[in-house]
Amino acid sequence: MGKHEAVWYYGCTDNFAGANTMSQENTVPQPPPVYEASKGRSAVRYVVFGCLGIGVIGIAGIALIIVYLMNAKSDVDPVVEHYLHTLDKGNYAETYATLGTQFKNSLSASDYAVFASAIHRQLGNYQSKSFRSINTQTNTQGKFTYMTYLTHFANGDVQAYFTLQQENGEWKIEGVHYTGDLIQKMLTCPHCGKLNSSYGRYCQFCGQPMNPDEGKAAAAK
Ligand SMILES: [Zn+2]
Repeated sequence: MGKHEAVWYYGCTDNFAGANTMSQENTVPQPPPVYEASKGRSAVRYVVFGCLGIGVIGIAGIALIIVYLMNAKSDVDPVVEHYLHTLDKGNYAETYATLGTQFKNSLSASDYAVFASAIHRQLGNYQSKSFRSINTQTNTQGKFTYMTYLTHFANGDVQAYFTLQQENGEWKIEGVHYTGDLIQKMLTCPHCGKLNSSYGRYCQFCGQPMNPDEGKAAAAK
């Protein structure tokens, strides 16, 4: 190893104190730092292999996560697609039967029908969706996947969030949440004009029916 064999460090030098001794303001070119033959070589190896190792592990880790998420996406995406299509048929009892246990525990079949028919009335028929994000989680409750889409309906676009859980090896929808202007309109009471936090048969504030048609039907009786 010659005396002028230069040792330059780029990138991964944060933990290597004194590796880069050249001052940024110094306009006169300085000789590069020279290390004693044995010391310099082992230090270079240490840094180079350290950087390579971290890089390889990092890339492998990211690749594994991407493969894992893409697998999860291809598993749950058809479940979401099927769900959105079945809503158009208007058979909410049938759609309800495909939902996960937690969803069913939190909402009765008749309350679900109120919610689903309001969504269908407001958004119109389902057209397509654009994938936005996926997240997975495994905890003591089980295996979960969270999907976000921009969903396109006949009357406009809404952001849709789906929570899915694996039940007996099958992905089930445990929660559906929509946001967007159309949803805001749907949650606004036609009688008092206040924004409800979730869609129910009656307004949380004035107790009048949220569905204008239901209100007319009640008035006609
Ligand atoms: Zn109201």
